[in-house]
Amino acid sequence: MTAPLRLFNSLTREQDVFAPVHSGEARVYSCGPTVYNYPHIGNMRAYVFADVLGRTLSFKGYRLTHVINITDVGHLTDDADAGEDKLEKAAAAGAKSIWDIAKHFTEAYWADVRALNIRQPARWSIATDYVPQMIDFAQKIAPDHCYELDSGLYFDVSTVAHYGALARAKTDEGESRIAPVDGKRNAADFAIWRKTPPGESRQMEWDSPWGRGAPGWHLECSVMSGDLLGFPFDIHTGGIDHREIHHPNEIAQNQAFCHSDASGAKIWMHNNFLVERSGKMSKSSGEFLRLQLLNDRGYHPLAYRLLCLQAHYRSELEFSWEGLGAALVRLKRLTLAAAPLRDAAEGAEPGPAFAPLLARFDAAISDDLNTAVALTVLDEALALKKADPAARRAAIAAMDAVLGLRLLDLDRADLRLRPTNAELAESQVGEALERRRSARAARDFAASDAIRDELAAKGVEVMDGDPLGWDWKL
Ligand code: AMP
Ligand code: ZN
Repeated sequence: MTAPLRLFNSLTREQDVFAPVHSGEARVYSCGPTVYNYPHIGNMRAYVFADVLGRTLSFKGYRLTHVINITDVGHLTDDADAGEDKLEKAAAAGAKSIWDIAKHFTEAYWADVRALNIRQPARWSIATDYVPQMIDFAQKIAPDHCYELDSGLYFDVSTVAHYGALARAKTDEGESRIAPVDGKRNAADFAIWRKTPPGESRQMEWDSPWGRGAPGWHLECSVMSGDLLGFPFDIHTGGIDHREIHHPNEIAQNQAFCHSDASGAKIWMHNNFLVERSGKMSKSSGEFLRLQLLNDRGYHPLAYRLLCLQAHYRSELEFSWEGLGAALVRLKRLTLAAAPLRDAAEGAEPGPAFAPLLARFDAAISDDLNTAVALTVLDEALALKKADPAARRAAIAAMDAVLGLRLLDLDRADLRLRPTNAELAESQVGEALERRRSARAARDFAASDAIRDELAAKGVEVMDGDPLGWDWKL
């Protein structure tokens, strides 16, 4: 593919042309979920974005190594150093072992990953598997960059160049979010190791040169990304909240470890939030939208994926059920248009008829992952009904390899999910519609309307004259 790949780098605050550290390769690290609760659909936006990035790098011909971590220790209820460990807190509330909690929510997260057709990364790295490496890393940076207090080992942010250059919030705003810890030299200093207070014990704790305790949250990502991808690696991703505290702290650690002013990754990319009208969706507020809820209400998970792709990853995206419904209708149209191609020969070349469209698709996706424009090019390719089916299939397959909507294997019936609270079985709806057709044929419109109202009362909307031929929806 010919267009240069341009990606917005939060560090330089401009689009950089992607130039791999290792020729022909792309190494990407994405901050993963903290597994103390179910992921909400806002969290999953971060992984749909990272997935599109990975798929784009593959499309551009790079050999991709993608690592996503699982944070099962250390993330406090506040991104800085205040509060309790989120997992310890969840364990206490549910009276379950912290390890059971982590396992349960990791599996729930993986189920969402599969449902959203997010490709498996080369590696899921689990934070608690890396504690010895974290201690090792901390020992290397401690002499020049850290100091010990009663509560733990702290990183002195004044020992590295340009601390916080990545963050957009003004320093004082950032600092006001950080609860003071007695004895910290700078407000932004953060824990590398958190000692277990005397007389207490935690379910997750390890011995270290600074006493028994647990690693600070920021440490794991520096250690796992450096270990698995090598410094410097190509791209580090996360949600924009990470741009303010977590990633500046990772960068400070990387600088200390590498004895360098460089950040450890060439490009830092951040997806914007999925918001609700009432504000940012968040896990800790206790009430949030899970992918399963969308399913239960009859929305296929890939409709949510499409909703994400319709917006640019750097723009805020407001969630609404109407918007999700519109995305589902669009997905139905796309699968319907792609359906005849399923039987076309596989493995053909897209050929000259599709070259201009593929070039435009490439240009869109190479323009900082402009999926919204790429989708309109897909629409055009699906509309070229006269072209050779095998060539069309190949072109659609190439585009969908980036978008990941499963257009060539989803069936329109797959997209019609029965909400768990639906009162009528599919056959009952069919039977009522049949009665209604007879009534209309007999020009008994009162009876026909009565049947429509009866169905509406049970949550089924009759769709007269739907261009896609859907008789009803829930
Ligand atoms: P967490 O499990 O809280 O560590 O978050 C997992 C990922 O989701 C991180 O990359 C966050 O930055 C991201 N994230 C959190 N809330 C949202 C949201 N409302 N919209 C998009 N991304 C989010
Ligand atoms: Zn991280």
